[in-house]
Amino acid sequence: MIKNYINGELVEPVSEKYFDNFEPAIGQAYDIVPDSDERDVELAVKASEAAFPLWSNTPVVERSKYMKKVVALIERDLAEFARAECIDNGKPLTLAKTVDIPRAVKNFEFFASAIHGFASESHQMEDTAINYTLRSPIGVVGAISPWNLPLYLFTWKIAPALITGNCVVAKPSEITPMTAHLLAEACIEAGLPAGVLNIVHGYGGKVGSAIVKHPDIKAITFTGGTKTGKEIASVAAPMFKKLSLELGGKNPNIIFADCNYEKMLGTTLLSSFRNQGEICLCGSRIFIEKPIYEKFRKDFVEQTKLLKVGDPLQADTDQGAVVSKEHMEKVLSYIQLAKDEGGTILTGGNKVVPEGRCKNGWFIEPTIIEGLPYNCRTNQEEIFGPVVTLIPFETEDEALRMANSTEYGLASIIWTENLSRAHRMAAKIQSGIVWINCWMVRDLRTPFGGMKSSGVGREGGMEALRFFTEAKNVCVRL
Ligand code: NAD
Repeated sequence: MIKNYINGELVEPVSEKYFDNFEPAIGQAYDIVPDSDERDVELAVKASEAAFPLWSNTPVVERSKYMKKVVALIERDLAEFARAECIDNGKPLTLAKTVDIPRAVKNFEFFASAIHGFASESHQMEDTAINYTLRSPIGVVGAISPWNLPLYLFTWKIAPALITGNCVVAKPSEITPMTAHLLAEACIEAGLPAGVLNIVHGYGGKVGSAIVKHPDIKAITFTGGTKTGKEIASVAAPMFKKLSLELGGKNPNIIFADCNYEKMLGTTLLSSFRNQGEICLCGSRIFIEKPIYEKFRKDFVEQTKLLKVGDPLQADTDQGAVVSKEHMEKVLSYIQLAKDEGGTILTGGNKVVPEGRCKNGWFIEPTIIEGLPYNCRTNQEEIFGPVVTLIPFETEDEALRMANSTEYGLASIIWTENLSRAHRMAAKIQSGIVWINCWMVRDLRTPFGGMKSSGVGREGGMEALRFFTEAKNVCVRL
């Protein structure tokens, strides 16, 4: 049973209430989640505050050792973690095994070693003075994460926060809490000192907002929807908290006729439908240069029809269940909107009812839509499911104008063998991440995040280590 992890122990929520946790592939509850509230957050903050003096003074090498112990346990139990992620989220087990859990391991490993290269700056003013910058941990920080890449994104926040000497009050999504619970068990087994990491389960409106409001939590790192991000900013900004917001996207995938066609086609299949299209970095608006539009449409539809949708536990499944009934209904309502706006469904468009164990699960066919203007709602709003639109273009400028037309600016994908064009497009496109002739290739040292309504701040590498530390300049007169 899932419990809160507070002050080094697994504990019941103060309310003693729980709510159901669903397995999307079968559409049924299989466990319960603590329905915590501000009282549990208060206990977690107290535990963090008590742990902070010792943890922040623990040498970096020792902090790294704790993280490596946690990593060793996740690796030992990788199969169990992957299965838990698959059951909780609906994603294919093979994906959880090869991407989600290994990446959670990498997050810890990366920050446990990156910290050793985190040097402070020094500025000399000729013979007048020398400045150096001290970077100290902030104190207690809050981390709130979404359901699409549960452990992957949870650890992406926790690892840099802990290694820089902060204590953490973290909340996973209430829709996918299981691997955060397994992480808590691993932390206990690894002997992580009590109170250093606290995990409080429950709803965003109760636990999440209590974390955001708490006056003793000095920084918030949040990944989730833009609407939630706005709410969080409206509370946290007047309290002058440090804020890192990783929000929604509506990413363009721009395909020029001179691309490496085979590579583009294979990768576009992934960037459209991987993880049921529930990756903030998926390219949901596909812009295709006119000379190859017809060929691309035919090949892409053909390949998409071959994707196997069904039981995520089966090794040959390409696309599992979407995360919840509400989310399935939201995605289906967008498909209806696309039809209402005059779009043509080239393939997909319906709920899938697999035979056997998953007959009551929440599945949607991979869906391709064409014939919609770039500025209609379907092409402007985030759907976050296995749904893409095809839009032809004639010139580079037109592609750019349409790509940049949404309120979002998270990621973009550009396919061309023309080097000059690739650089030109990369410079002009409005997104925090640009992939040229690839997708989801991630070097954890690089800044990660979005512009416009896709977020504020960057995570990853030194950016994360800076975010989780307070800079203090010391000026010494020579
Ligand atoms: P969400 O905003 O509904 O929830 C995210 C988290 O915030 C959950 O833990 C939730 O409980 C909590 N929350 C909800 N209301 C809150 C409140 N008022 N105060 C504090 N916390 C609150 O998002 P979601 O549906 O879980 O995730 C999908 C969204 O996340 C999509 O928009 C997707 O694009 C985005 N996302 C962005 C990135 C990125 O790196 N930019 C990565 C993954 C997902």
